Amino acid sequence: MTVSELNNLPVDFSPNRALGQNFLVSQRAISIIVESLQLSSDDLVLEIGPGTGNLTLPLVQKAGFLVAVEIDRRFQQILQKKMADFLGSKLRLIWADILNIDLPKTIQELGEQDRVIKIAANLPYYATTDIMLKLITALPSARMLVLMVQREAVARITADPGTKEYGPLAVMVSLYGNVKTIMRLPGSAFEPQPPVESALLKLTPTDSSLLRDSVFAQNFAEFLLYAFQERRKQFMGRLRRDRQIAKDSQREDKLISYLEQSGIRRNFRIEELRPDQLLSLYDHLHKISCLPSN
Ligand code: SAM
Repeated sequence: MTVSELNNLPVDFSPNRALGQNFLVSQRAISIIVESLQLSSDDLVLEIGPGTGNLTLPLVQKAGFLVAVEIDRRFQQILQKKMADFLGSKLRLIWADILNIDLPKTIQELGEQDRVIKIAANLPYYATTDIMLKLITALPSARMLVLMVQREAVARITADPGTKEYGPLAVMVSLYGNVKTIMRLPGSAFEPQPPVESALLKLTPTDSSLLRDSVFAQNFAEFLLYAFQERRKQFMGRLRRDRQIAKDSQREDKLISYLEQSGIRRNFRIEELRPDQLLSLYDHLHKISCLPSN
């Protein structure tokens, strides 16, 4: 079958590779995604990239409300037709780039902010890191994320300090909670078939999530993006160069005594610090007004 037949699309439809359009055609995988989310009528599901609605339909049937954000308006007609029973009652389609949306504000404006938030996506692989960072920082209170990613991305998502994959995404994911691989999928689960394998991940928060709220999480993520730009250089030198501290100043003294108390050596590199150490460092830099934006 062609991609058009499999997805009830016009015969001349051609998937946009640049937008990661590989549609999930494995019914088993679709069922596993829906079951993993353990949906109830209290839940709000945020879906990124509904495409032709393969996943959207079973999700909206079980959720209390579903918000789907899709960048490609070519799916408008098919989605409106497929979802006609739910539009206006418990489904909102938003035609936009997920990276440009203020998610807490959008949910608030829909009046759905008191629901349990669960996130589902067969992600467009070109933007896995940016989208996952955005989701965790904007909605750190989400109860669960069930995400299809390229298999190679798992190493980046779950990387340990000191490894080359370790970066802002791994830090934020670790502070959010736990990651479990639910299943691995071959390219044949999708149409058109991607030349890579995929993994379905489930992320759940730990009891005392360290990310506090979305404002804190966004500021902290910005700090991480700044800090990891020069991940292998000595961070104190970086702060001096960026004029956040001056040599032999009070701020430098305060920072040095903080590092000593925390068991971090003075010439540390940012990539060496564990997520909890990065969080504590951020809090301290904030306290002594040493953050790049101060
Ligand atoms: N959910 C459908 C499925 O599983 O068959 C389609 C998944 S496909 C891998 C990724 C979808 O994300 C596509 O529909 C694509 O147009 C959409 N997309 C890509 N980049 C996006 C972005 N920045 N914001 C919102 N949607 C995006």
